[in-house]
Amino acid sequence: MRLEPTNIQQIGDELAIAWNDGTESFLKVELLRRACPCAACGGEPDVLGQIERPQVTYTEKSFELLGLDWVGGYALQPRWADGHATGIYSFTYLRRLAQHSN
Ligand SMILES: [Zn+2]
Repeated sequence: MRLEPTNIQQIGDELAIAWNDGTESFLKVELLRRACPCAACGGEPDVLGQIERPQVTYTEKSFELLGLDWVGGYALQPRWADGHATGIYSFTYLRRLAQHSN
């Protein structure tokens, strides 16, 4: 079975993701943005802290999530209030992030 979300909801400053294997992940929205795997923010999606990330400037709007788009059935692409929307988070990356934040 391929891992994918069955339900995603933002609750306060957290994203609650229900997975098709029956588990649930909670992920701070701010952490989601800080872990953005796009080239401008950090390049390779790797475990938090394992890679040197470029200096990125955030504003309050950077941590305001406007929506999530599905990408090719394997990833989610968040749209942020500061206009950033190039980060593609694979489901396994999201799951790994959530495990690190708990
Ligand atoms: Zn980014």
